[in-house]
Amino acid sequence: MSRLPSRVRLLILAIGTAGALSLAWRLPQITHWSGADTWGFAALAAGIAVGELFPLALRRGTEILYLSLTDAVWTAGLVLLIAGLPRPEGPSVLTAAVGVGTLVGQALRRRPPIKIAFNVSQYLCAITVAEIIFGALHTASASDPTVWGYAATAMAACFAVNASATALVISWVEGEPFTSVLLPPLMPNVMHWVGNLSLGVLIAVTWTEVPSAVPLMLVPLAVSYSAYRAWLRGMEERDALRNLYEAGRSLLGPLDQAGFDRFLSLVRKVMTAQAAELIIIEGQKVTIHSESSKLVITASSDGNGNRSPQAYVPVHDGLAPQIAVIGGPENPEGVLAVYRSDPLTASDRSLLETLGSQVRASLLNQRLYMEAAEQRTRRGDMIANTSDGIFTEASDGSILSWNPAMERITGLAANGVMGRAWDQMIESKIISSSSIDGSGRMEDILLLRTDGSEQVIRTTRSPITDPQGDRDGEVVVARDVTMQRAAERTKADFIATVSHELRTHLTPLKGLIGTLLAGVGEDSTEARREYYEIMKRQASRLERLILDLLQVSSFDAGGLSLDIGPVDLNALVSERIEEVRSEHPDRRIDLHVPEGPLIIAADAFRAGQVVGNLLSNAAKHSPAETAIEVTLVGSGREAVVSIRDEGEGINPADHERVFERFYRTVQAKARQTGGAGLGLYIAKRLVEAMGGRMWLSSTPGEGSTFSFSLPAVGAAASYRSHHSVTRPAVASSSADARNR
Ligand code: ADP
Repeated sequence: MSRLPSRVRLLILAIGTAGALSLAWRLPQITHWSGADTWGFAALAAGIAVGELFPLALRRGTEILYLSLTDAVWTAGLVLLIAGLPRPEGPSVLTAAVGVGTLVGQALRRRPPIKIAFNVSQYLCAITVAEIIFGALHTASASDPTVWGYAATAMAACFAVNASATALVISWVEGEPFTSVLLPPLMPNVMHWVGNLSLGVLIAVTWTEVPSAVPLMLVPLAVSYSAYRAWLRGMEERDALRNLYEAGRSLLGPLDQAGFDRFLSLVRKVMTAQAAELIIIEGQKVTIHSESSKLVITASSDGNGNRSPQAYVPVHDGLAPQIAVIGGPENPEGVLAVYRSDPLTASDRSLLETLGSQVRASLLNQRLYMEAAEQRTRRGDMIANTSDGIFTEASDGSILSWNPAMERITGLAANGVMGRAWDQMIESKIISSSSIDGSGRMEDILLLRTDGSEQVIRTTRSPITDPQGDRDGEVVVARDVTMQRAAERTKADFIATVSHELRTHLTPLKGLIGTLLAGVGEDSTEARREYYEIMKRQASRLERLILDLLQVSSFDAGGLSLDIGPVDLNALVSERIEEVRSEHPDRRIDLHVPEGPLIIAADAFRAGQVVGNLLSNAAKHSPAETAIEVTLVGSGREAVVSIRDEGEGINPADHERVFERFYRTVQAKARQTGGAGLGLYIAKRLVEAMGGRMWLSSTPGEGSTFSFSLPAVGAAASYRSHHSVTRPAVASSSADARNR
C-alpha cells in the first residue's frame, strides 16, 4: 500500500468509504429481517462466496481478466428481492450478501487484505447503484419481461462501476491511459456479463414460477462455467501463439541488443515471469543478455574443462531461475532463463523449450548469414583487386558483371556495359580462337577503342552451369596482350630480317670464295684484287650488322658507355663523306659549312657512326645521279647536321616509325635494298644519349632530310671532358683509335 501512488491510495480510500457508507445505509433494515430474509441472505452469500472461490483467470500482460458466475447470483438476488412488491429489507439482504459472500470467498482464496477490502467496497458500491436503479424502475414481478430489461439496465450500471473502478486503479498504478486498460478486455467482459445476466434472470424466474426446478439451474450454471473456461483457454492459447510468433519475429532482425531486449520482454510476458535472461556462449565469450542490458565475460573453467552454461545464470533475489538449455547436451550454446515465484507447469516448460529453440534457430541463421556475407565480401575483394579483368556473360552474351580491372583494361565503365553485349558497346573482332580443356575457350579479341587506338585482349572463357548442369552463361578472364603481341611480332620480324640480311651478305661471299677455289674466274692480279675487295665489303657489312645487333642489345641492357669530349664537327663530317665517296666514287656529295670551327661535345666515334649511317642511307635510298647535300649549322648552344637526298622520300605516316627498331618502310622492303631496320634506331638513341635530338622532314617523291643536333662545347659543361677545348681532337683519330 505504501508503495502505491498517493492518488491511488486516495481512490481506494474513497471507494472504501463509499462501500462502508452503502453498508451503513442498509444496516438499520437488517434488524428487521424475517427468517426468509436470513435464509435468502445465507443462500446468496454462499453462492457469491463459491463464485468468488472459483474464478476463472486469464492473465493478459499485466492485468488479469476474471470470469466468474458471481454476477449471475447478484442478478438473481436483485430480481427476487426487489421486484414485485418491494420490501424495505430486500436491498439490505442483497447488499449484505454481496459484502459477506465476497469477503468470505476472497478470504478463503487468501487474497491480500487490502485487495479484499478494495473489492468488497467496490462491489458494495456497484450493487447499491444497481439496487437504486432497479428499485426506481419497476413494480412488476420477476416473470414480467419488462423487469428483465430493468434488471439489465441496473446490472449494466453495476458493471460500469465495477469495470471502471478496476480500470482506473490499474491505469494509475501502471501509469497507462485509462482507455488502454479498460478497452482491450471489454468485449469478453461484456459477453460474460450478458451470459451472467441471463443466468441470473433465469434463476429468478424459475424460483418465482417453479421453485422446485431451481436445482436444475445448476446444469446451465455448470455448463456456462465450463464454457467460460473453454473460452478462456482458447484466448490463452491464442495469446500464447501470438506471443510465440512475436518472440520469433523479434529474433528475425539483426541479433543486436535491441532484438534481444524485445525478445526477452516477450519471453517475460509469455512466461508470466518477473524477469528473463539469455546467456549465449561462443567459444570463450559468454554474453549475458537481460532486458535492456548486456554483460560480456570470458568463460572460466571449473577444473574439469569449461563450465556448463547453467553456471553463468545469475541468481535474482529469492527467485530460482527456470532454464531451457539452447543447443545439444554435448555442445550447449546457451541458456534461456526465466525468474518466477511459482514453478513451471508442463505446458510452461514446453513453451520455454520452444522459445529456446527459436533462439537456437536464429543464432544458427545469423551464423550462416555472417559466413555467407564474409565469403561474399572476400570473393568481391578478390575480384575487385585482381589485375586480371573478370566479367560474366549471360547465355545471350549480355554482360552481367564487370570488375574494376576490366574498366582499366578497356576504358569502359561498369555501369555503361551492364546488360549490353560486346558489339553494342565497342567495335570488336575475334582474331583467334581455340578451345581449352574441352569446355573452355581462349580468344584474342581486337578492340577498336574510341580514341582510334587498337587493343588486343586475350580472354579465357569458362562455362557457368546452373544446379541442373545446364549452361547458364560464361565467366571470362581477360588480359591486355597488345604489347605482348607487338613484341611477338617484332621478334618474328627480327628473326626474318636478320636471317635475310645474313644470307644477303653471305651468299655473294660464299660464291666468290667458291669461284676462287675452283679457279674458274679470271686469274689476273686486278681481278683477284677486285674479288677480294668485294669479299671485304660483304664481310664489313656482316660485321656492321653484327655490331648493330650488339649495339641494340647493349641499349636494352642499359650498357651504353660514352666517351664525351670536344669534337671538331667539320672534320668529323668530312671524314665520313670521304668514306662514302670511296664506296660511291661517282656520287656527288656537297658539304656546306659555316665559317670557323664548329666544336661539339660528343663521343667522336659514336657521332661519326651517326653521320656515316645517315650518309649511307641517303646514298642507298636515292638515285646514283642525284646529289646528297650535307649542311652544318652552329648556334651558341648546339650544332645541327642535316643530310638531304633527292630520293623516294618517306610517307608522313612512317616519319616516326622509321626510328623504331627493325622497322623498314614498305618501299624499302619492296626494293630489296637490304638493311635490318636498325641504323636509324641506333643513330637516334646515340644522339639522344649525347644530349641531342634527331628529326626528319621528307616529301614522298622529292627526297628526305635527316637532321640531328649535338650540344656545342660551351653548352655541354655537364659532359665529362677528356681533352681540353683549346686542343680539339680530330674525329677520325678518335674513331681510328677505337677501330684498332
Ligand atoms: P636499314 O638498315 O634498313 O636502312 P634504317 O634504320 O637505317 O635501317 O632505316 C629504316 C628504314 O627507313 C629503311 O628501311 C628505309 O625504309 C627508311 N629510310 C631510311 N633512310 C631513308 C632515306 N634517306 N630515304 C628514304 N627512306 C629511308
